[in-house]
Amino acid sequence: IHTLLGTIDIVTIIGKQVQLKKSRHEFLGLCPFHDEKTPSFTVSPKKQFYHCFGCHAHGNAIDFLMQTQNHAFPEAISFLAEQAGLTMPKTQLDDKPPFFQEGLALLQKAGQYYQAHLNQTTHMQDYLKDRGLDETMIKHYALGYAPKNQINLFKNAPQKRLDDVGLLQGRHPKFQDRIIFPIHNRKGDIIAFGGRTCHPDIKPKYLNSRETPWFQKKTELYGLYQAKQLKETAQSLFVVEGYMDVIMLAQHGIGYAVATLGTAISSTQIKKMKQLTQTIIFCFD
Ligand code: ZN
Repeated sequence: IHTLLGTIDIVTIIGKQVQLKKSRHEFLGLCPFHDEKTPSFTVSPKKQFYHCFGCHAHGNAIDFLMQTQNHAFPEAISFLAEQAGLTMPKTQLDDKPPFFQEGLALLQKAGQYYQAHLNQTTHMQDYLKDRGLDETMIKHYALGYAPKNQINLFKNAPQKRLDDVGLLQGRHPKFQDRIIFPIHNRKGDIIAFGGRTCHPDIKPKYLNSRETPWFQKKTELYGLYQAKQLKETAQSLFVVEGYMDVIMLAQHGIGYAVATLGTAISSTQIKKMKQLTQTIIFCFD
């Protein structure tokens, strides 16, 4: 990936889709991610990064292709490699196991670890009960708790692997002292986590795993795996904003709600829902 990003030129890549004009050290154009009449979308050849001052979209060439072409991470990379005339090494991406399977296994293990910790942490269970959450919902959505000290999770897995799946922030555990909401893919594998602090003074209130080969937030929906198991879902699906909205609706008999993961709804997400249901009902604040 490093070699690839060092070889390609982001101005050329983006220039195929956006008309760019040189302006001092950067290139300027109309942002492809939001509607605008005056350009606020900049591409820096020096940093090999794009940034929009209007909607704050930003990233490198890989991000750009993922965002505009709906490419998954591996597709974006092979597309760019082909353009750059680079041969993709036949590891990781081609033979999905072991790299991909190993990552999934680690994410499941982390999920179990967080769940076990919630079971051991009475004051966190009380906290959830005070919020009105039933035990059955805590189990159904596999909620957990990430303690401050996570030695047991971290001592057995190599740092590199933990970082690959998004469990680290720098060298530290990403989720600490947070209620954990595992994010499942359609098959029910845990692919990422959301973490909610229970301290009003700690920001941000919600924290999500960063994007990884296992998790692209624009293509996933929280609660879709659980909703998929209900026959009511064939009739309609509710789309709400957050984890707690999904869970509270389920607790009150509407188990066919899903949440976007802090992004605007994407066509991929709509396609995924359309495969399961006839009617999609948006229910935002
Ligand atoms: Zn923009």
